[in-house]
Amino acid sequence: MLSIKNLKASIEDGTQILKGINLEVKPGEVHAIMGPNGSGKSTLSKVIAGHPAYHVDGGSVELDGKNLLEMEINERANSGLFISTQYPTEIPGVNNVEFLKMALNSKRAFLGQPEMSDEDFKKLCEEKMDLLEMDERYRERGVNDGMSGGEKKRNEILQMAILDPKVSFLDETDSGLDIDALRIVANGINHIMSPEKAVILVTHYQRLLDYIKPTYVHVLRHGKIILSGGPELALKLEDQGYDWIEEAK
Ligand code: ADP
Ligand code: MG
Ligand code: MG
Repeated sequence: MLSIKNLKASIEDGTQILKGINLEVKPGEVHAIMGPNGSGKSTLSKVIAGHPAYHVDGGSVELDGKNLLEMEINERANSGLFISTQYPTEIPGVNNVEFLKMALNSKRAFLGQPEMSDEDFKKLCEEKMDLLEMDERYRERGVNDGMSGGEKKRNEILQMAILDPKVSFLDETDSGLDIDALRIVANGINHIMSPEKAVILVTHYQRLLDYIKPTYVHVLRHGKIILSGGPELALKLEDQGYDWIEEAK
């Protein structure tokens, strides 16, 4: 589904941040990516998304056999990729719900589907806002405008729920969430998840993985995946940190 092979990428000054990432994500799988600050986790999401600040030095990223790296950013999204960034952008003046409707209809047009009617969109939006226990007043807000960290994260998952992507890369979606919001957001992600879809979760904490059971856990450090395992790896990391991995090598 999403196939990342030997992906290398650098920033403007030539410093290489991703030093050969390999990751195979299949339908129905949840991949947790953990690792110390500054490892390249967010960079990986941005390179996959097509952020212009990064230069791809080598390797490949394919979604359902199509080369993502050759696509425009909107094509990547319309093809079924969803990225929730670590620090969601505020877009004052752009209404949250209108923005979502445009994004969804742009995707539908790309896929050759008819535009969704206002009525159907309203229903869809209500259903997903209920799922995420979001207040009606979010309809009136600008995209992430003035929202707290936790509210932005919840709003990101609303976007995901409405756009219905094949592969979602969620960067520290759990950070800034209080205990109730964490449960609600995690339930929302589980609800959206299906055997045809896949999720990549970047997280520092086991607590999210108590709700969303990962198929695989990977440790990213210094721009490389240095260890992969099952859910038990996250428990070991929480207990022992990351240093034992280098020492064990
Ligand atoms: P993580 O998400 O794992 O904490 P990041 O991917 O955000 O780490 O960053 C990895 C490294 O790359 C850090 O040292 C960070 O400062 C650097 N980096 C990432 N993006 C940029 C950028 N646009 N300009 C300069 N340095 C960057
Ligand atoms: Mg990060
Ligand atoms: Mg489901």
